[in-house]
Amino acid sequence: MEGSRINNKRAIVVGIPGVGKTTVITRAVEMLSMHGLNARLVVFGTVMFEEAMKMGVRHRDEMRRMSVEEQRRLQENAALKIASMSDDVIIIDTHLFISTKEGYYPGLPLHLLNLLKPTNLILVAAEPREILGRRMNDKTRQRDLVDEGEIAHELEIARIMLAACSILTGAPFAIVMNREGRVDEASQELASLLADGRRGVEQ
Ligand code: ATP
Ligand code: MG
Repeated sequence: MEGSRINNKRAIVVGIPGVGKTTVITRAVEMLSMHGLNARLVVFGTVMFEEAMKMGVRHRDEMRRMSVEEQRRLQENAALKIASMSDDVIIIDTHLFISTKEGYYPGLPLHLLNLLKPTNLILVAAEPREILGRRMNDKTRQRDLVDEGEIAHELEIARIMLAACSILTGAPFAIVMNREGRVDEASQELASLLADGRRGVEQ
């Protein structure tokens, strides 16, 4: 309910594949909930798939085979759905760009930023060597393996793209380092950015 919203943050959390976004956000949501905030993790791709299922799509991979126009509509429907959620803190887990033959495609073009209206933009980063290790060790996913130099380059592109999103939306951007074996520290930092003066969450 509108009146019960005390904090009301809508944070977009991005980072290159395997950096640990989902891991860090999941823990941050637990921390915020323990401090009495109604926090929710929203995976943008999952909401898009839920919208796609309404259009008869049965598998996630089918979305990529839809026309550009249909995919755009799906993204917009997902953004509208997320914008209508009324939790105190909504953390949106998404990708900032995808690499194509034409160049880097923004995952958050202006029309989606205008619908999502983020209050915070957060980049999860880590050392390239550690990201490479995480991609190689994570057997639950099929990831494109590249070398450390390429990962360092992806991180650079991510910083540039997030800075552009910050200028377009007016939302502040922060970078959270997810150091090896120290998920809780990164989650704590993320939670503090969104707790708005809540005692205990901030340290
Ligand atoms: P994607 O963009 O592909 O969804 P992601 O950024 O959400 O990736 P996760 O799936 O959260 O990444 O994490 C990738 C792997 O790295 C997982 O196996 C996870 O357990 C591990 N991991 C995450 N953070 C750390 C950390 N601080 N130290 C060690 N391992 C980590
Ligand atoms: Mg993830």
